[in-house]
Amino acid sequence: MKKFKDIFVKYKTPFYWYDMQLLDETLKLIKKESEKYGFYIHYAVKANSNLPVLKRIKKIGFGTDCVSGNEILRSLEAGFLSSDIVFAGVGKSDEEIIIGLENDIFCFNVESVSEIEVINELAKKLNKTAKIALRLNPNVDAITHKYITTGLEENKFGININELDNIIKILPNLNNIELTGIHFHIGSQITDLNVYKNLCFRINEIQEMFIARKIKLKHINVGGGFGINYDAPDIDKIADFKSYFKIFSNLLKLQAEQKLHFELGRSIIGQSGNLITKVLYIKKGVKTKFAIVDAGITELIRPALYSAKHKIENISSDLLDETYDVVGPICESTDFFGKNIILPKTKRHDLIAIRSAGAYGEVMASQYNLREIVKAYYSN
Ligand SMILES: *Cc1c(COP(=O)(O)O)cnc(C)c1O
Repeated sequence: MKKFKDIFVKYKTPFYWYDMQLLDETLKLIKKESEKYGFYIHYAVKANSNLPVLKRIKKIGFGTDCVSGNEILRSLEAGFLSSDIVFAGVGKSDEEIIIGLENDIFCFNVESVSEIEVINELAKKLNKTAKIALRLNPNVDAITHKYITTGLEENKFGININELDNIIKILPNLNNIELTGIHFHIGSQITDLNVYKNLCFRINEIQEMFIARKIKLKHINVGGGFGINYDAPDIDKIADFKSYFKIFSNLLKLQAEQKLHFELGRSIIGQSGNLITKVLYIKKGVKTKFAIVDAGITELIRPALYSAKHKIENISSDLLDETYDVVGPICESTDFFGKNIILPKTKRHDLIAIRSAGAYGEVMASQYNLREIVKAYYSN
C-alpha cells in the first residue's frame, strides 16, 4: 500500500481505497479460467455494490447475483442485462419479487415452498412466467466460521432435500412458474477446496434424483464462497481460480446442454479494497499499547461480527517493530481491528491500511455514533 501514500495524504480519513488495477487483473483471470469450460459468472453484489466496481465487472461480461430489489435496480443502473441477473434470499418481499418479474430476470433462486407460491401468484397478476431455481440444502460442511456457514440442514437458508417430492408434486399446478435449475450456496470464505469436491459429489447425487423423476434442468448454480488470503494479501493477491474451476469441470457431471453458473463475491473484490485510517492517539495500557485510529466498526464491522482478522499495515513508519492493540473510536468493546499486532513504531497521524477489506466492508458501514458515512476513492 506504500506506493499509494502520496495519494492517501490528499484525502480525509477514514476512507476506502480500491485498487482497480488489481480488480481488473482478478476479473481477467476469472474470465480466462471460467471461459475454458463455458461457465457463467455472476458477481454477488452484496459484497460491494459501488457503481465503479460494478461497471468494471459489467465490462468483463459477468452477470450479477442480487439479494434485494435494490441490488437488482443497482445492477441495471450499472448496465447489467436483466437476463444476467439472479435473485436469491430467504425473505424476498412482494415488492422485490415484482421488481424481478417486471425486469424479466434470469432466475429467482427460491428458498421455500411458500415463496414459490407467492412468486406464482404475483407472476400471474403481471402475466409473466417466473423462472426459478430451487436453492437446495446439500448438507455439505463449508468448514468455515459458523456465522458464514449456510449449507447445513439447521441453517435458515435453502430447501431441504426431503421436501423435493412435495415441490415436484405442486409445480404442475403453478402455471406461472418455470423450474429451470437448482442452486446451492454453502457458505463463505471457503479455503479448503475439498469442500467444493464434496459439493460436486453431492450435486451429482441430487441430479440423479431429478433424472429419476424425468425433470430436465437447464442450469446448475453452485453459488460462491471461494475464500481469499487475509494473512498475506500481497503474496496471494488473486485466489487460485484455476484449481477452483478445474474441480467443477472434473467432478461435476453436467447433463447435455446444461449450463453451470457461479456466484462469486469476496474472491472478486476482497483483495482490491483497503480501509485507510489515521492514528489519533497512542495510549499506554497496563500490558499493552493501544493505537487508537479514526476508523472503527462503523467503517468495517467484520472483526466484531465474525472475529475476522485483517492484515494491518503502517504505511507511514519504517521504525523498529513494537506491539499494539489497534482499536477504533466507537463506544463498544468489540471495536478493534487487531490485538497484539506487530507494527513499526507508530505515532499520532501515521496512516494505517486495513487490508483485504473490499468485500463485506464498505457495504456494511453505518452511522452509529452519528458518524459520517465512509467515503470511497479509486485508483485508475
Ligand atoms: C453471499 C452470497 C454469495 C457470495 O458469497 P461470497 O462468499 O462473497 O463468494 C453467493 N451466493 C449467495 C446466494 C450469497 O448469499
